[in-house]
Amino acid sequence: MLNTSQILLSKSALKHNLEFIRKTIGPETILSSVVKGNAYGHGIEQYVPLAKACGMDHFSVFSANEAYRVHQSLSDSTPIMIMGMIDDDQMEWVIQNGVSFFVFEKDRLESAAKIARKLNRPAKIHIEIESGMNRTGFSTRVLTDILKYIQKEAKHLIVEGLCTHFAGAESIANYHRIKKQESIYRRAHKRMLDFGIAPQLKHTACSAATIRYPKTIMDMARIGILQYGFFPNQETLIHYMTKQKVLEYPLRRVISWKSKVMNVKTVKRGEFIGYGTSFLANSDMKVAVIPVGYGHGFSRLLSNQGIVLIHGQRVSVAGTVNMNMMSVDVTNLDGVQKGDEAVIIGKQGELEISVASFSDFSDQVNYELLTRLPGDIPRFIVD
Ligand SMILES: *Cc1c(COP(=O)(O)O)cnc(C)c1O
Repeated sequence: MLNTSQILLSKSALKHNLEFIRKTIGPETILSSVVKGNAYGHGIEQYVPLAKACGMDHFSVFSANEAYRVHQSLSDSTPIMIMGMIDDDQMEWVIQNGVSFFVFEKDRLESAAKIARKLNRPAKIHIEIESGMNRTGFSTRVLTDILKYIQKEAKHLIVEGLCTHFAGAESIANYHRIKKQESIYRRAHKRMLDFGIAPQLKHTACSAATIRYPKTIMDMARIGILQYGFFPNQETLIHYMTKQKVLEYPLRRVISWKSKVMNVKTVKRGEFIGYGTSFLANSDMKVAVIPVGYGHGFSRLLSNQGIVLIHGQRVSVAGTVNMNMMSVDVTNLDGVQKGDEAVIIGKQGELEISVASFSDFSDQVNYELLTRLPGDIPRFIVD
């Protein structure tokens, strides 16, 4: 069946971003490529082998399911780390395959030790510290108890890492909270050393922390959004550009998303376009219908706001975004026809639409929009 749109992944863009990240984190730090959320919508099965070919050799995911998909996409034993969910019945697969994982509750620690003993294969664990996000992580109050347990089960548990996650490093408004998190983490590390347990890898930094708080980079950086060519938000980008005195956007977007015009029609002045009355034609208009809607991950929030490229020009969404299609205003373009290319994200001619330029509703719009791209839009690798 023909798909109504396609996603392209650019190898040269990814290489460029990896060079940028490597320069930022230095030569010694392990770069873990965060590919949760279906590789931020890029598609695990397509993105992971591509990233591997570009030199990435550590992957982080949210769940055991994603770890399984990454594992299937790789032909060797490249390290995989689970930062979130593992069901009890998945633990055996995880340990058997040498996948490492965050531990943030006693149950999981016990289940890991038990299954590792049964498999006669040690579990590679990363102790997650609760430093202030209040999501997952061992509070420092219970740390001694946890360390005692680890010591007792030392044969079955390898403490591969000590980690935490920052609660909003992209925004200066959270400065004090982040600094406090950093210090709680460092104290926990010291306590571990005092206890005689030395984690192999200290890691705390995501993309935003890597840019804004370089001291948090440590032995490994868990990088998601930057590798795909986006900054976590505008603030992080401006911070980087002013501090480094660069004038040009330093990354390249890996993803492009393209579709084509499926219908063109004229609309008389005074008519409404689409459902309801949110768009009134103030003059005679011509609209093109694109077969992409909120069901394809193009948010309804972009009704009357989003932009696509046709004939190398920006055209704006007219009316509400529907489930499977949207209308764009092509009144000022000559000769738009059915079948003409419409770029939703990416370049056409001289112009480019980055995900962020969709709108300023939310700093998180990059993450959300990318992650919502449906898995069944076909992905292709291009140079
Ligand atoms: C998602 C995630 C990251 C990566 O975040 P980016 O902002 O995309 O770099 C790092 N660490 C953890 C624990 C995460 O959940």
